Amino acid sequence: MRCTCGQEIQANWTYCPYCGENIGVEIITPSKAGSKKRIGLLSKDYYVRMSAIKKASPRAYESWTPEEEQKLINLYKEGVTIKEIAEKLQRQKGAVTSRLKKIGER
Ligand SMILES: [Zn+2]
Repeated sequence: MRCTCGQEIQANWTYCPYCGENIGVEIITPSKAGSKKRIGLLSKDYYVRMSAIKKASPRAYESWTPEEEQKLINLYKEGVTIKEIAEKLQRQKGAVTSRLKKIGER
């Protein structure tokens, strides 16, 4: 499903991690006691975590463009550290290393 902001979101999220929109989907799961329990909290935690990540690395979880990938390869070949590459590309260090592995540069 998609949020009004156009981002792909999971059906069980109550918040859109991209724009913060309250999706308004209330997931009700029957608990063992037979009463109904909301499971919106997890999504909210996820949203809070995601916001913090996005604040530090605005491009985190965005798909890589070919230009960006080329930039990544060039920087890596120039000997720029992963930390600096991550800062330049506004991504997380983990994302940079896994991308390098994926494209066979590391
Ligand atoms: Zn949204």
